[in-house]
Amino acid sequence: MKTTFIPAYDTECAGRCLEACRTIVPLHRELGVPATFFLVTKLLEGAERKPYQELLGQPDFEVGSHTVTHPLLRDHPALNGKGVAWERVVDEVTRSKATIEDAFGRACEGFRSPCGFDDGLAGAPELVELVARTGYTYSSCLGWGPLYTLPVPLYQARTYAELGQPDLWEFPLHGWHENVLKGHNATPARFLLWPPVYPEHHVPGYVKTPEEEFEVLRFFIDKALEQELEYVTPIWHPWSLGKFDPEMKMLRMTFEYVRSRGCAFGTFRELRARRAKSSVAAAAD
Ligand SMILES: [Zn+2]
Repeated sequence: MKTTFIPAYDTECAGRCLEACRTIVPLHRELGVPATFFLVTKLLEGAERKPYQELLGQPDFEVGSHTVTHPLLRDHPALNGKGVAWERVVDEVTRSKATIEDAFGRACEGFRSPCGFDDGLAGAPELVELVARTGYTYSSCLGWGPLYTLPVPLYQARTYAELGQPDLWEFPLHGWHENVLKGHNATPARFLLWPPVYPEHHVPGYVKTPEEEFEVLRFFIDKALEQELEYVTPIWHPWSLGKFDPEMKMLRMTFEYVRSRGCAFGTFRELRARRAKSSVAAAAD
């Protein structure tokens, strides 16, 4: 199987994310690379609405939900955070989808929770039901390794069939949260799993240059290719990418490398559409 590389961005900070997107988007266009942007929709409520519509409203870009205001939807052991009340969860999940559909004029299929969980949404059946009922066709919320460690192993797609939602897919994220890798968030240094999933993968400290960041990412791209996995997707945040590497050298290196290795590029929406096709084919057999 040809591995698909899915560039995806958690777009969440007023000002700084928009600023970074003004460099990220032209790079994608120059290289002909699609992308999925998971957007905090509060950003669409003011002066940033129009610029985001112009930047992200292109046919080969997908816009998914990253909630309205980026709260924790469940208690979060790694961040020592408490999840918000259920009424707020419902609002964050439903209103963000409606806002994106209104702003971009097409279906918002994907949901990514702030900060992610080590079981995706599996530990919160009521949230699985809510995300499915709201009309999302996939979740991309599994963003931690076992016991809330990093890196996230190259987990592949699965459904929430066991929780009664066979048509809701989960597309896990992979590798390091790049903001953690750079020390951009106050983080306790207790993310490593022992024994590790990938004993040959070493990250001795915070990355200092775009080249070093690329090398970390390359490990996961190579591993996905070696294992002939369906997809690999990094965990990127425009604000953090821009703070570290305003010219987006790492992105350029990554896209050129991915292309040189014969990987395809894609969006989560396309990955999800393949599932719909294969289930139609299976039903016809
Ligand atoms: Zn986020």
